[in-house]
Amino acid sequence: MNNKIWLSLAHMSGEEQKYIQEAFDTNWVVPLGPNVNAFEDLLQDYLSEDKKVVALVSGTSAIHLALIQLGVGPGDEVICQSFTFAATANPIKYLGANPIFIDSEPETWNMDPGYLEEAIADRIAKTGKKPKAIIPVDLYGMPANMDAILEIAARYEIPVLEDAAEALGSTYKGRKCGTFGEFACLSFNGNKMITTSGGGALVCSTKEQAKKTLFYATQARDDKTYYQHSEIGYNYRLSNICAGIGRGQMTVLDQYVARRREIHDIYMSEFSTMPGITVFDNPSPDYKSNFWLTCVQIDPVEVGYNNNDVYEAMMKADIECRPLWKPLHLQPVFANEIFYGNGFSTEIFNRGLCLPSSPVLTEYHVERVVDVFRKMKK
Ligand SMILES: *Cc1c(COP(=O)(O)O)cnc(C)c1O
Repeated sequence: MNNKIWLSLAHMSGEEQKYIQEAFDTNWVVPLGPNVNAFEDLLQDYLSEDKKVVALVSGTSAIHLALIQLGVGPGDEVICQSFTFAATANPIKYLGANPIFIDSEPETWNMDPGYLEEAIADRIAKTGKKPKAIIPVDLYGMPANMDAILEIAARYEIPVLEDAAEALGSTYKGRKCGTFGEFACLSFNGNKMITTSGGGALVCSTKEQAKKTLFYATQARDDKTYYQHSEIGYNYRLSNICAGIGRGQMTVLDQYVARRREIHDIYMSEFSTMPGITVFDNPSPDYKSNFWLTCVQIDPVEVGYNNNDVYEAMMKADIECRPLWKPLHLQPVFANEIFYGNGFSTEIFNRGLCLPSSPVLTEYHVERVVDVFRKMKK
């Protein structure tokens, strides 16, 4: 009998229970404690580049606290990659600011530096104000074109917040994703590279930023013995239980990255003989995606069926796959926002599909996925 193949399953190392048990045994069942500190240290060591990591309840909360520290407020504009999950842009709206969406470039599927520059110049010309921040995303684990984006950001003196929620383990020119820009966010939601069942982190450039992040994440309490507050705070700190899961997950992160890359390689070689099916790959040796999800582009003219047909066939074969992220400038909730681009992200959305990429998949599973394509009728 077939058993279901999932898109991207959380998988435990076996170490997680030990850290959770430890938290119970020592009565650290709270949103701070030894697991939180140890998990942050592990992430810091992993990323290096002298970054300071603060563990939070989600990647979304990390973006929110970064934008607050970048001074984003009502009426401000924040430049944001359009081709991404809504969580990248939602915190802009939490703050009463407006996203300015940027299209993708063909090489990385991430923020197009050309449209980024055009947008900045045009917004300054039209509003007399600079956008407050730039949020490029390393989508599906593929690093954004960081040299070009950071150069433009530096020239206009606009801070960068890297959304590396999907890119733990990826590198760009040998440097880990999650270390570019003033801030970066990570996510440990259920189906990301590692899971804490739900969680995230803000990667900060300075100790002061880390301190401030902690302050906002714990209700912005003033330095007094009694409860005094001079600013609005949030309850965003990661639980010590969840951080225990994270500690266990860090022991297998490298293994997971290696296996997701292997799975991508298998797809690459399987589809190399099928014209019209293109596996999204690193555009040059500068980019080393973790291949969180392997994505394909399906050319309906060439193959005689489209991504929706494959999606349906996968469902019937008990295989979970997923459309690509629908660009945010096409989302009803963001219909009134400003967009710069030529529609490239719409094109890849219309032709794309994410294939099962869990590290637990075997060659047999990948073969079953590819077989669905082989059996598609023209
Ligand atoms: C998952 C994700 C987030 C949000 O992370 P959560 O931990 O789910 O809040 C942000 N951006 C991208 C690109 C993501 O994939």
